[in-house]
Amino acid sequence: MQATIFGSLITLVQGDITEQDVDAIVNAANKTLLGGGGVDGAIHRAAGPELLAECRRIREEVLGGRYLETAQPVLTKGYRLKARHVIHVVGPICGVDPDPPRLLAAAYRNSLQLAAAKGLRTIAFPSISTGAFGCDIQWASRVAVDAVIAYLQANPGALAEVRLVQYTAADHAVYRAALAACLSAR
Ligand code: ADP
Repeated sequence: MQATIFGSLITLVQGDITEQDVDAIVNAANKTLLGGGGVDGAIHRAAGPELLAECRRIREEVLGGRYLETAQPVLTKGYRLKARHVIHVVGPICGVDPDPPRLLAAAYRNSLQLAAAKGLRTIAFPSISTGAFGCDIQWASRVAVDAVIAYLQANPGALAEVRLVQYTAADHAVYRAALAACLSAR
């Protein structure tokens, strides 16, 4: 399923984010930046150990050993991935962080801004915060689709394609309904 927003594509696909042939894939990272389970683990396995080495360097040299702030993305290379880059961003933890919808929207928006600022044209996101971080995919999918559409409307031509990748058929159906609802509300 796809739609065109001021000349840019928003695309929904069911699949594996590690296999996406785009300029950047987004990693639903955690605050340590040092890998984890879920999509984070899959991306590190597919990219190879050089990715973890770069993340360690950023943690030490850029972050001064501190945690990565929620919704503040960082860019690395993609190493053995088809994607040339990885944008690592931490989504909100539901039940822990205040105002998860606001933080989740910021995670998408800031990642899109970073990609465009680096001259990247195509980007693929997983469903941030709807796995281990426990947010309800019903509203999180709406936040994701809304944030992408709002960005593309405000920044026409900044990106060629924003792809939202769902791992399961059930999640894909939820995202399709969210996109249909967003488009009909416009
Ligand atoms: P978070 O900690 O942000 O909740 P998770 O990695 O636990 O992140 O889950 C986020 C989403 O990523 C979940 O919907 C999960 O099904 C999905 N996911 C897991 N592995 C992959 C993959 N290889 N490609 C795309 N999505 C994936």
